[in-house]
Amino acid sequence: MGLEAKLTDDGFFTTKLDAIIEWSRKYSVWPMPMGISCCAIEMMAAGDPKYDIARFGSEVMRFTPRQCDLMIVAGTVTYKMSHVVRKIYDQMPDPKWVIAMGACTSSGGMYRSYNVVQGIDQFLPVDIYLAGCPPRPDNLLNALIQIQDKIGKTRAKDFQDIKLPELTVLQSN
Ligand code: SF4
Repeated sequence: MGLEAKLTDDGFFTTKLDAIIEWSRKYSVWPMPMGISCCAIEMMAAGDPKYDIARFGSEVMRFTPRQCDLMIVAGTVTYKMSHVVRKIYDQMPDPKWVIAMGACTSSGGMYRSYNVVQGIDQFLPVDIYLAGCPPRPDNLLNALIQIQDKIGKTRAKDFQDIKLPELTVLQSN
């Protein structure tokens, strides 16, 4: 059978390289589960059969930052711990995204305390802030969908142009 006849029978589609890279990236976001305290339990629940994060292509949680492109910070981050979180973030390859899961991560939550960072955006660029104490697993899935939308709106070549803000690692008080 000739090529023309085969294509007519089987069908075909055309796309651009950029578009297929975006599509693949969007549906294969691999999270780095930075579970620090109680919010992490809800993060784990997002992977169970009820919530099934695999539906979104993100079931491959990795505990090595070099294989991840989404950091989910879930829990109360102390100044001491902030250095560790930042170090792990720095080891993730670009492009990468960050979800601040829960009140503590986003703003310190109820811990208005000398040892707790009042929001991880003081030392990380945050893409999505997730409200709640703790947020429900389905809220985390919603945040993931928003990250996917964000990825879908960015051309592959634009990732090279992204300028990260100058970040400073916090000092303990
Ligand atoms: S937001 Fe609530 S559930 Fe999450 S780490 Fe803080 S105290 Fe725990």
